[in-house]
Amino acid sequence: MDLSYSDEEKAFREEVRTFLKEKLPKELSDKVRGGDELGKADIERWHAILNEQGWLAPNWPKKFGGAEWNAVQRHIFEEEAAAHHAPRIVPFGLSMLAPVLQKFGSKEQQDYWLPRILSGEDWWCQGYSEPGAGSDLASLKTTAVRDGDHYIVNGQKTWTTLGQHANMIFCLVRTDKDVKQQEGISFLLIDMNTPGIEVRPIILLDGSAEVNEVFFNDVKVPAENLVGEENKGWTYAKYLLTHERTNIAGVGFSQAGLTAVKRIAKAEMAGGKPLIQNPHFAARLAQVEIDLQAMSTTNLRIISKAAAGTAPGVESSMLKVKGTIIRQEINDLARRAAGAYAMPFASEAIEGSNAGLPDPLAAGPVAAQYFNNRKLSIFGGSNEIQRGIIAKVTMGG
Ligand SMILES: Cc1cc2nc3c(=O)[nH]c(=O)nc-3n(C[C@H](O)[C@H](O)[C@H](O)COP(=O)(O)OP(=O)(O)OC[C@H]3O[C@@H](n4cnc5c(N)ncnc54)[C@H](O)[C@@H]3O)c2cc1C
Repeated sequence: MDLSYSDEEKAFREEVRTFLKEKLPKELSDKVRGGDELGKADIERWHAILNEQGWLAPNWPKKFGGAEWNAVQRHIFEEEAAAHHAPRIVPFGLSMLAPVLQKFGSKEQQDYWLPRILSGEDWWCQGYSEPGAGSDLASLKTTAVRDGDHYIVNGQKTWTTLGQHANMIFCLVRTDKDVKQQEGISFLLIDMNTPGIEVRPIILLDGSAEVNEVFFNDVKVPAENLVGEENKGWTYAKYLLTHERTNIAGVGFSQAGLTAVKRIAKAEMAGGKPLIQNPHFAARLAQVEIDLQAMSTTNLRIISKAAAGTAPGVESSMLKVKGTIIRQEINDLARRAAGAYAMPFASEAIEGSNAGLPDPLAAGPVAAQYFNNRKLSIFGGSNEIQRGIIAKVTMGG
């Protein structure tokens, strides 16, 4: 396998670098680098810049307005975007719902919803999990009962990431209680401004209110918002999850994180020497770098399979587990390297305060990232569940 980049790919990397240097607003990259929270307006601004360039939806086919990049191009963009501290692309509409609509949605749904995802008119969130239905998602209880040309939705979703910003939510709902659990689930698109919906924030360990509870009380949803067939939602849900898990690998974030750890460890002293020369620390750093290099190659292999039209299968579970272990290890190394500088983890304490910390360490966000990224091994299906899937597929049973 030839791992060197072709001249074309090198030229593409240069194009991406130039774009990021010219178009990524400094206020945004400073916020990302300093670990400050990005508001809705920040994320929308970056999405609009990418959309204008035609790069907002790298994984979409051109016929839907996407860039239709190949696996290597996507990998290069992800690396460069993270290295330049670009805001992350919020995935719910772009890389979770869109592939489902493109594969299972009606022509009317594709024509209506996909352009609105690109233009930013709609901000989507994901309504899968419920209290009591996380790992065991198929036991979800939120009901949708058909009433003429509407469904009436009742129930509760939880852990809804950025639901406070969203005007739309894609939900898994129970449309048949009398069949096997998986066979009575449907996939419904719901306007968050419909009467009967209430959003309540959940405050996380890092002090942020990134996730929410969403309550549905007799919410009237047009029947045309059903994606695909009634009671076939489990198939669509699983298809979406394979895309969610692959995205979670976060190779670019890990590479940027590793660079930051090295910077900190070169500047911090331990026993009269830079920390990076400490054999124990250096060995952990080397191990994670090797793991990242190996995963990065595996990631490329898997996304090229996805780009060829095959939904990634068990491989996306592998990437999710490995990618999140690596990111959490890098967060832990950063926390250890930053030492006392990593103390202020409450968002109020670090807000606007990073400028005063020893540059280029930017140690302020280290603790917040450490705490926030505990989530990585839980969401998108916990790592224990992924290991179960891998074992089942690779060893049978
Ligand atoms: C920060 C964050 C953001 C999230 N965002 C969203 C979102 O936007 N939309 C959404 O729908 N959901 C979201 N989730 C929910 C996420 O998908 C669930 O938390 C996850 O699926 C785990 O479900 P649970 O929390 O109910 O834990 P449980 O399912 O109760 O699991 C508890 C523990 O038991 C383990 N466990 C459970 N079953 C098994 C088993 N069979 N074998 C081995 N171990 C097992 C789990 O690994 C876990 O460690 C988010 C979660 C977090 C933390």
